[in-house]
Amino acid sequence: MAEDGPGSPAPQWAEESIPPMQIRVLGCSGSIAAGCRTTSYLIGADILVDAGTGVGDLTLEEMAAIDHILVSHSHLDHVLAIGLLADSVTRRRDAMQRPPVQVHALPETLDALRRHIFNGVIWPDFTRLPSAEHPVLTLHPFAVGDVLQLGGRPIEVLPAAHTVPAVGFAAFTNDGGAWVFTGDTGPNPALWARLAQLDVRMLVIETAFRDDELALARVSRHLCPALLNAELAGLTQATEVCITHVKPGELETVMAEIAQLQTPHHIRPLVSGQTLVLAERGAVADERRPG
Ligand SMILES: [Zn+2]
Ligand SMILES: [Zn+2]
Repeated sequence: MAEDGPGSPAPQWAEESIPPMQIRVLGCSGSIAAGCRTTSYLIGADILVDAGTGVGDLTLEEMAAIDHILVSHSHLDHVLAIGLLADSVTRRRDAMQRPPVQVHALPETLDALRRHIFNGVIWPDFTRLPSAEHPVLTLHPFAVGDVLQLGGRPIEVLPAAHTVPAVGFAAFTNDGGAWVFTGDTGPNPALWARLAQLDVRMLVIETAFRDDELALARVSRHLCPALLNAELAGLTQATEVCITHVKPGELETVMAEIAQLQTPHHIRPLVSGQTLVLAERGAVADERRPG
């Protein structure tokens, strides 16, 4: 946590000794193409952060082990695998007598899922299937600032500034270090105010567009490298920064523009299939590349 900053400290682990936090990058692209999957991260074995097309790379067993889905906002690239995963794991979780998979999101996001996806037209209502008494999915509202305890791991809901109600998340190691995912967001002063109070070990931040698409970035409330640069000025210390949500075919251009920025941070693109390991303070961060 921050040494002497104002505000509330980082939430702590509920349990005493937990292995380092592993985050599997299932999808980190702004859209789809061969090799490009949309936003999805797996924290440990049981917590999914967003449910983009990257979820399709999990085995059925891995999908069935997911107990919680955190949803940053209602856009299709972040939610489309919720209903598909529910369909896939229903029998297996039933056979294992597992409780429903809990979907956590803002009330507006849950309402959008109910009205526009689980409406019996786009997809069946898996909050009432296989039976209303024992559904495969349950919906759980949260608010910005809430700290959820999911399988013993504290996860804080962070503000985002997008075209629909949206959030980011901070997942904490047992010594208070934070893995931060911004979600889809344009310029977001409230985020930097909160992060100034946390020990940010790794920041996953979106950069959806190239600099010559600044106008598009502004209207769709995303970032481009110039906007990213202004945002990163809000980080109080040099930080490991990972870029996500770049559109297919644009990664080289966007990263070349980011390489021109004058910044103290270590910035690199995320790669789908990689596993991020968030080390304890003083330990060396480890990382596995795909295949
Ligand atoms: Zn979005
Ligand atoms: Zn998106």
